[in-house]
Amino acid sequence: MVQDKELIELVMEEFKGFAKHPRPSHHEKAISDYLVNRLQALGVTEVVQDEAYNIIAEVPATTGYEKAPLTILQGHMDMVCVAKPGYPFDPLTSEIKLIREGNILRADRTSLGADDGAGLASILILLKLGVDHGPLRIIFTTDEETGMTGAARLNPKYIYDAQNIINCDSENLDVICTGSAGSCHTHFTRHIQWENTIHDYAVCIKTHEFIGGHSGETISHGKSNAIQALAETLLAIRKKGIDYRLAAIDGGDAANAIPANSSAVVVCNKKDIDAINSTITSVKEAFYRIYKGIEDKAKWDVEEVAVPVHTFSLKDTEMLINLLCILHCGTFVMNQSLPRLPELSSNIGTIKTTDDIVTFEYFPRAGADDRLSNLLQKLPLFAELTGFSYEQGKQEPAWTVNAVSRLAPLYEKAFEKVTGRKVRKEAVHGGLETGHFYHLNSSADIISIGPNTHDIHSADESVELDSIATMIRVLAETLANIR
Ligand SMILES: [Zn+2]
Repeated sequence: MVQDKELIELVMEEFKGFAKHPRPSHHEKAISDYLVNRLQALGVTEVVQDEAYNIIAEVPATTGYEKAPLTILQGHMDMVCVAKPGYPFDPLTSEIKLIREGNILRADRTSLGADDGAGLASILILLKLGVDHGPLRIIFTTDEETGMTGAARLNPKYIYDAQNIINCDSENLDVICTGSAGSCHTHFTRHIQWENTIHDYAVCIKTHEFIGGHSGETISHGKSNAIQALAETLLAIRKKGIDYRLAAIDGGDAANAIPANSSAVVVCNKKDIDAINSTITSVKEAFYRIYKGIEDKAKWDVEEVAVPVHTFSLKDTEMLINLLCILHCGTFVMNQSLPRLPELSSNIGTIKTTDDIVTFEYFPRAGADDRLSNLLQKLPLFAELTGFSYEQGKQEPAWTVNAVSRLAPLYEKAFEKVTGRKVRKEAVHGGLETGHFYHLNSSADIISIGPNTHDIHSADESVELDSIATMIRVLAETLANIR
């Protein structure tokens, strides 16, 4: 094969081509048309562009590999388009300006789109180099970043007959990803019975400066949840026999983020304020003992506010706190074969009070579809017990770790041959497009790989060019050994 230097020039050429075609999710026609032309220019004759602008291309085996099993090489064509504050950038029309600094490629004040331009470029370059391979199917999907709807809308016939699927959308050269989690958006909602205020005092209780973070990547890091910590505080106040009503409760930013802050308006009697404060002090003391070394910066604030005219009824107040306390947040169980991988987790992500309802998002993830279904069938029971209504979105499929993969060892061997290093095998507790493929064909052997990308989904996004060259070499070596 050609030298690394030459491979990197080929990578640059592909990135220059992509950079001319802005490609935020849901606006992929231009890049999809470009990729169809690019594949045809590389001599691929069987190229399909479907209604979702996904591309499916069939590449016949090279000589001597006709009997090899069918392998899918896959990446996504959309990207997260962001710019530095003040930089005029229209993701629908502006070109991405590439900046190369030695081995690092980034963009001028915008995201780069190495996620997943690096995957697309690697696949195109393998075709260009004419490496040995069995029958290949190239699949470039759309809208990976906002809902994986490209993968979900792909005609299943393109997945059914594949024996191997190599997804090129990971972020670390030295890691093979071998599994991902399924998830489901759920909402608990209650209509508020507003009542005239019967108390003479009101405070806003805030839990804030919790660590927060991604609910897939960091759910097993032993953190607290600011919304649940607030509910537990309110429960402790009730257990002290202090009479109060809620008038509002809010917190969190997204279903898939562990909330770092939450606040509630608590309407009470002024005579009880000392008892409330001392209860909060004991809640905090216990909290800091439980979360020592993790949530040491978490804070509680109590601030007097104007007494609102209306409050939740006593039942609304109690049932909301009960439900927020009994729904488990964090990991339920860890994977028993892979260390540090959660198998089932859930997170109360956001809570909001509007005119007549209080609603919150509960977002479970699981490494196996049955595991998730088992939890989901119980959630309406919690709602029923507390007088809430329950809504559930579409269940996103998991890609369950395959303990007897033949593809992963082939890639591991190829990686060691090319780099002299050993690759790490990991599975993630977040969602990947591979979940959709596994759902359609659980006998397919799937791995996910990628080069060293940094700060993806931000205007600081960058990629190490030599890691793309290495990835191309390892892929070529792997394909040569799939017979
Ligand atoms: Zn990606």
